[in-house]
Amino acid sequence: MAELSERIQKADWKKEKHVPSIDAPDELKAGELFEVKVSLGKEIGHPNTTEHHIPWISVYFHPEGGKFTHQLGHFQFTAHGEGVKGPNQGPAYTHHAITFLAKLNESGTLHALALCNIHGLWEDSKEIKVVE
Ligand code: FE
Repeated sequence: MAELSERIQKADWKKEKHVPSIDAPDELKAGELFEVKVSLGKEIGHPNTTEHHIPWISVYFHPEGGKFTHQLGHFQFTAHGEGVKGPNQGPAYTHHAITFLAKLNESGTLHALALCNIHGLWEDSKEIKVVE
């Protein structure tokens, strides 16, 4: 039987509109606040319509040599043009991009997981080195 991890798709974000791309420093000091940006469709835009959109992005951190993965945040995008007049006639759309602050005490890997309501799960990773 297949496992969920086998269902998570990977690709080059420059060629595939579903891949989240993580923007964060390569190196930082322990305990220093830094900005993490995750966006999707940086090169090739992903649709944001009532029928086809990105409902959420989750970001995780896995410390180097560690056993367990920690969730840094889960970001839900809940407006996709829904309205009383019908699909895509509504007043608002949430765009599938996030920026948040975090601190790390250890080196490790950031993982971003994004869901497309039609095209499933997509991931990207980025290593971050914590220096003294
Ligand atoms: Fe899609």
